[in-house]
Amino acid sequence: MNRTESRRLVIVGAGPIGLEAALYARRLGFDVTVYERGQVAHYWRSWGHIRLFTPFGMNSTPLGRAELTSYELPADHDLLTGHEHVERYLAPLASSPSLRDCIRTETAVLMISRAGCCKSDLPPEYPRDERRFRLLLRQGQTERIDEADIVLDCTGTYANHRWLGNGGIPAMGELASQQHISYWLDDILGTRRHHYAGKSVVLIGSGYSAATTACLLSTLAESHPETWVVWLARGARHQPLVRIPNDPLRERDRLAARANNLAARGDGNVEFHAGTTVEAIEFNQQAFRVVTRSAGRERIWEADRLIANVGYMPDLTLSRELQIHLCYATEGPMALAASLLKQPRGDCLTATPGGPAVLKTTEPNFFILGTKGYGRRSTFLLRSGFEQIRDLFALLTGKPDLDLYKR
Ligand SMILES: Cc1cc2nc3c(=O)[nH]c(=O)nc-3n(C[C@H](O)[C@H](O)[C@H](O)COP(=O)(O)OP(=O)(O)OC[C@H]3O[C@@H](n4cnc5c(N)ncnc54)[C@H](O)[C@@H]3O)c2cc1C
Repeated sequence: MNRTESRRLVIVGAGPIGLEAALYARRLGFDVTVYERGQVAHYWRSWGHIRLFTPFGMNSTPLGRAELTSYELPADHDLLTGHEHVERYLAPLASSPSLRDCIRTETAVLMISRAGCCKSDLPPEYPRDERRFRLLLRQGQTERIDEADIVLDCTGTYANHRWLGNGGIPAMGELASQQHISYWLDDILGTRRHHYAGKSVVLIGSGYSAATTACLLSTLAESHPETWVVWLARGARHQPLVRIPNDPLRERDRLAARANNLAARGDGNVEFHAGTTVEAIEFNQQAFRVVTRSAGRERIWEADRLIANVGYMPDLTLSRELQIHLCYATEGPMALAASLLKQPRGDCLTATPGGPAVLKTTEPNFFILGTKGYGRRSTFLLRSGFEQIRDLFALLTGKPDLDLYKR
């Protein structure tokens, strides 16, 4: 066993990237523990009614598929829903012989530090890389400490929504009414159907999440014509989604085209208003009153429901006591963020994670992988996460050519 293999590696988060990182590490002989505050692929279970726009072949790895040879796996070109992907790939992977002993579910990592070394303690007096990480864990009512030599933060961003007010801070009244606002991708045609059917809805946002919600509400309106959607977006474009010419991800383009159509034509019980900022919200236990401004003009909208699909951001509390240089714009780790900021915005297919060097943070042996590593950018794809995993272990083992994904 070499020095790397004898080191203890803790992965925080059993989403798809945490799981694949654990599998890779196990193959290399690392001592691995994965802590997951909910169930495996916890967030996927809440938005799993949505169909993925990348095919199964892009959402799984050669290592993962090899681990599951006794299962009938989907074909590479299959477009699964999130639930199907969990059921047919992520859950079996988590219970496979390589991973089942190292995953601790219902165990949250609350905060991480260095043993005997505070955030403000600097080398050379405090050689941080010689101190182990201390992780404060909570399982039910019980708290305990674990230690690690290497930590991978794979906790994602989905639980931490952004605010819907002008400039990204809460609109006046938003904090008081946030428990009544949906910031997520509700299952509008399934479990949340009765909540939305026949209701007036204000929808805020202009990305793929808002587009998905607009399309689902429009479908609901076909069977419940009283359903009415006022869709508000900050940008001035009269078509909310930018379509990518000849988009190879057909499902993504279909969504953009359908949402733009709804916005432009005003049919499907959806009316779209561009160039609109939200200033204030009131909720009176029955309905919302939303005050907006557009071209200097104030408007007031009354609605039964309010959905804010305005994006997500990293929760920084986990590593607040570590020394991590974060990007001023995205809150991703600086080197990776700088590499991503240089790349053209827009199409996640063309964004590349940037190689092993940009994975290093200013805290030795602490790495932020997966969607959290991209900070507030929404261009993360599972495929990029798999590249990060391969690059990370090449870095950790000191073997630049190491690639367990090579077929
Ligand atoms: C609706 C939607 C559709 C998407 N579609 C695609 C697609 O088609 N193709 C694609 O490539 N990408 C897609 N993505 C983007 C991306 O691939 C996913 O967001 C993916 O889930 C990111 O994986 P992850 O492992 O980084 O994080 P997550 O899946 O967010 O997993 C993080 C895990 O960490 C756990 N956790 C969080 N905090 C703690 C803590 N303190 N302690 C312990 N555990 C913790 C969570 O419970 C969760 O299980 C989509 C994203 C969304 C939201």
